[in-house]
Amino acid sequence: MYVILTGTPGTGKTTAAKILASRGYATITVEELAREHDCLEEVQGELEVDVDKLAKAISQPEESVILEGHLAHFIPGQMNIVLRCHPDIIRKRLETRGYDAEKIRENVEAEAIDLILSEAIKVCLFVFEIDATELSPEAIAAAIERIMKGEVDDYPPGKVDWSTVVMDWY
Ligand code: ADP
Ligand code: MG
Repeated sequence: MYVILTGTPGTGKTTAAKILASRGYATITVEELAREHDCLEEVQGELEVDVDKLAKAISQPEESVILEGHLAHFIPGQMNIVLRCHPDIIRKRLETRGYDAEKIRENVEAEAIDLILSEAIKVCLFVFEIDATELSPEAIAAAIERIMKGEVDDYPPGKVDWSTVVMDWY
């Protein structure tokens, strides 16, 4: 089954997934899966994933496959792992990535209000959260590995709280 690795852009999903892939875990990105199932569509000159179509098109693999991307939680899976990261760090990373101001703001706000976590909780019973703010990529990969092995006690959803960060904005 798919192990869903989701989180705001910039939280470190792809970096962690690559480490896990190098250790032998099967991994795929939402975009790759969408390409396989012809679920990419062009919207205003950019390729977007039609997640509703993709969710219907896929079948679950027999083995565990890590499915990674900020839309991954819209695809059914065995569990959802949500990576979290301090909004100020997300902002810096997305600036480095060259996102425009509006897209950066949208994503920083989404992280601040737990958007992906709340979306994930609506659709999946097994949701875990990793605060990646002070973790190295290797430590994030190790946390994902622990969760996949059932060692979930340190990763309950709802522990991360950026409300004080948001209050500092006003
Ligand atoms: P995502 O796939 O969630 O959008 P990436 O894995 O592409 O995020 O990481 C975004 C940026 O942050 C990259 O430049 C990456 O090198 C850096 N990064 C990722 N994880 C960490 C980490 N744990 N510590 C420091 N920098 C990180
Ligand atoms: Mg990525």
